[in-house]
Order: sequence, then C-alpha cells, then structure tokens
Amino acid sequence: MEFGFLPMLGLNLDYPLVLSTIIEHAAATFADTELVSYGGPDVTRSSYYEAAQRSRRLASSLSCLGIGPDCLVGSLAWNTHRHFELFYGVSGIGGILHTANPRLAPAQILYTINFAGYRTLFIDPDTLALAEQLAPRLKTIDRFVLMTSRRAMPATNLANVLCHEDLIDAGDPAFAWPELDERLACMLCFTSGTTGQPKGVLYSHRGTVLSALSIGGGNGWALSASDVVLGIPGFFHCNGWGVPFLGPMYGAKLVLPGRRADDAWLYRLIMDEGVTIAAAVPTIWLGLLEHCRATGQGLGPLRRIFSGGTAPPAAMIESYLRDYGVHVSHGWGMTETTHGATISFVPDGLSDDAAVAAMRTQGKPLYGNEIRIVDDEDRPLSSDGSTPGHLQCRGHWTAGAYFKRPELDLQTKDGWMRTGDIAVIDPDNTLHIVDRAKDAIKSGGEWISSQALEEAATQHPAVQEAAVVAVQHARWQERPFMIVVLAENATVAVEDLRSHLQRFVPKWWLPDAIAFAAELPHGPTGKLQKDELRRRVADGIIAPAIASSPSGV
Ligand code: AMP
Repeated sequence: MEFGFLPMLGLNLDYPLVLSTIIEHAAATFADTELVSYGGPDVTRSSYYEAAQRSRRLASSLSCLGIGPDCLVGSLAWNTHRHFELFYGVSGIGGILHTANPRLAPAQILYTINFAGYRTLFIDPDTLALAEQLAPRLKTIDRFVLMTSRRAMPATNLANVLCHEDLIDAGDPAFAWPELDERLACMLCFTSGTTGQPKGVLYSHRGTVLSALSIGGGNGWALSASDVVLGIPGFFHCNGWGVPFLGPMYGAKLVLPGRRADDAWLYRLIMDEGVTIAAAVPTIWLGLLEHCRATGQGLGPLRRIFSGGTAPPAAMIESYLRDYGVHVSHGWGMTETTHGATISFVPDGLSDDAAVAAMRTQGKPLYGNEIRIVDDEDRPLSSDGSTPGHLQCRGHWTAGAYFKRPELDLQTKDGWMRTGDIAVIDPDNTLHIVDRAKDAIKSGGEWISSQALEEAATQHPAVQEAAVVAVQHARWQERPFMIVVLAENATVAVEDLRSHLQRFVPKWWLPDAIAFAAELPHGPTGKLQKDELRRRVADGIIAPAIASSPSGV
C-alpha cells in the first residue's frame, strides 16, 4: 500500500498515558484491594474503589477552587491515604503536585515552596506546627488545607484554612477526568540539596507512568496482585519511589505508615498487614535487622526488601538473605531519574555467595534507562569493570533540565544526563557506584572512593558507622580523613583499624587521619551530610585521634 510522502503511523488508539488511568484501572480491576493508612491516631482502611472515588471528589472540589491545568499545589505531608489521593486528585485535572519535604531544614522548605510559587498548601495535622512556623515567610501561599476530618480539625493560628474531608464531601464522585496531554507535568520533587539549594525536578504524566511500569516488572519489583507493599520512603522523595503508582497499577495491597519508621512498630506492621515487599533506605533495614536479632523473631511474610538512596552494608544484605530468607533488591536512582533506574539482578540458581555479590552491586538498568561512564570532557569510557568515570544516564523519563533553572548544566550536548556520581560499569552492564563526584577523594590525580572506605570500616565489629571526607594536602591535593562512630561499649586502636582497612582497599587509600565521634549528621533522606562533616573537620571541631586508642575522644 502506498502512503505517498506521509510516514506510516501505527493504527493504535491515541489514548494518553496519564496518572488518572492508574487509579481508574485499580478501581475497575482491584476494587476491593485494600489501602491501609496509619497516618493519624486511627488506622484507616479503604479500597482502591473508594480511593478512586475520593480522588475524583477531591479533583472536582479543587476545580471549583479554581485549580486547573498548570496550577501548582503543594503538600507538606507524610505517607497517608489522603496524600495518596492528592497525587491523583491534583494531577488528574492537569495540576502539578509539589510534594514539599518536611524533613528538609526550614530554610530549604521555604526556598522550595517560594521558588515554585503557588497558593494552596495541604498539610498534615502533625506538620501543622511546622507550617505555622513557616507561614509568615511563605510568600505566595494564601490557603491551607488540613488533611484531616472536620471532627479532628486542630486549633491553628493560620489564616484561611480548609478541611480536607469537607473538600471530599463537597466533591462529585462521578467527576469525569478531563482529557490531558501525556507530556504535561504532574509532579514536582526537589533534590535533597546536599550541594547548594535543592533543585526541582518536574515529572511528566507519560514519564511517570512508564517509569512505574518499568520498575514494577519482573526484573524490578516483580509485583503482582498477591503482594502487600509497604512504602516507607516519604512521598516527597522521588514520589515515594513510585509506591503510590505501583500499588494500584499492579493491584497490590498498599500499606502507608504515615511518618513512623521505628523498628519495633515497623516489625509489627509487617506482621499484622502481611507485608511481602517493602522499600526503604539502609538505615531502616539495619534497624529492623537489629530488632529481629534482639527479639529472635523471623520476618514472616516479607519476601523482598528494596534498599536504595545509598549503598547498603554487605553484612546487612548477607544477613537478610541467609538468616531470614529475604531477598534484597538494591537499586540506584536519583530524583532526576524519576524512580529507581537500576536494580540488582539475581537470576535463579545462584549460590547464596553469588547472590549476595550481585545484591551488593547497584545492579543493571531497568528498561528505559541507559547508563555510560565518561571522562572529564564527556568522552565515553570503556565499560570494562575497572575504569572509573562520571556516570551519565538517559532514558524516556530522565530529567533533561531543572525546574526554572535552565542555566544549570544537567544535560550533555549529545543528550545524556550528568548524574554527579563516579561509577564503574561491567561489560554485562552491571553498575558499581564508586562515589559522589564531590565526595570522592582525588589523590595525586587518582580517585579514592569514600564509600568503599566507609564500607570497609563498618565491616569491623567495633565500628557502627564511618564517614570519609577529603582534606587538602600539599603534595597529593587531597587525602582521606575518616570519622568513626563506635558500636556501644566498643573500642579499637587506630593502628588496628588501619590494618583492618588494608584488607579491603589499596594501601595508598588508607586514611591519613582517623577521628572518633559520638554520631554523624544525616540529611532528610538518610544520606551522610558530608558538607557538614567537611566543615567540622576544617573548623577543628572534629580532630584526628593522635593516640593509638580512641579514649578521651
Ligand atoms: P536523591 O536524588 O536524593 O535520591 O540522591 C541521588 C543520589 O543518591 C545518587 O546520585 C547517588 O549518589 C546516591 N545513591 C542513590 N542510590 C544509591 C545506591 N544504591 N548506592 C550508592 N549511592 C546511591
């Protein structure tokens, strides 16, 4: 058949990939599947049918308030059913939900909201005090919505406060979602701002739906309607790692823990709700492991945990697998990659040792993400399993620019995104993150990985946590400085620690100085705050242990 000069297009329906299709799919197909929310004093149990209806009601009320296409709306809230419905209610009418991060420093929260510049902010009863503190400096907010029922509305000095459940009650449960272009923005997340002010990443409907499809599949979360998913990462961090989309998309029961993540409580939650799959940063997983060890309890229904945000200790992966039969899916991703971009790949039939080794890597790219390493001039380097380089990523939902910051050089000339990470890639495309570029120590022109040194230190039984930062050196430009937090009642001599490290890393990597500290500063997503540590070291607040033992530090 001849089409003249026209390209021969496929004959599929032109049906846009928008977020509302996810919740409507769940309402139609998994109507009775539970959505459990521990957000307030009471546990709320609803279903995807009800969640879809409430999302439509919310959307219709928001429309009546004048919120529509291209309008930003903010949330300063934890993981609850109301926050979940906001994802759909706002984006379904063409609005954009900025999930502001209550764990950032107040000045950073103010910066993100003022920078985005919108009028309506949804808040939880337990972010109310924070909102009251911020309110005088919120330049554009003139309406707050308290995410609670009329009965539970707390007293507040905020002006113009609406009640979330009033909006739901007033809304139309049969509200018809408007037809939207799938390329429209739907969500706005800010990076955690470890280098300068947080940067906004604006996600499209199309990219968000595709990314969720990709991570939920067999080589990713391997989700099905038989699963019970617990989403611990805050909804403000990479859309809660995709959990609000993955549950309804794959028909899994969803458990939302509010803001709580303490070990004993989390353990009970997993048991009581029959959680099969859960996602969180390594700090949470280490805590749960401690709890299981201390109480001698097993992990029951839990079959798989997702660990991301930072590299988990090898001993943790090993213990989950060997002692509890729980598979650790270790993934790498950034706010700029929407959700996880790579995940540890453990084919069936591997021995436990081989499986642990695979889980320690950052894994292989999920479909839709490509990775490469380059030199300082963006020239590709070999994926030979030993050459370190700057990691770049590209794909159908990788960020190409930051929100209202076109001057920032995120994208290369040939269309790859600079990640800011240093990595090695194996010939089979397995990713090994070496370090953040700004954290790696450049000694005599060669990279030393602060993360590898930290990992080696935590393999010593006396070490609870370790951090390594660069200090200036006249001859080598930079040398590593290690700060160690000892396990309770433990001691170790500095020379013993150095000999221990030497079993894992080259001799020239050994830290020139080791200091001991009572604790290390962590950011809102559990990452070590290395800028703060560098400052403390530079100011002499953290000083090297000169004696051979940490006594007196
Ligand atoms: P964020 O945008 O806050 O999620 O931070 C993204 C950064 O966290 C990445 O660029 C990495 O430096 C780091 N990161 C995320 N996942 C991992 C991982 N599995 N191993 C090591 N670093 C990670």
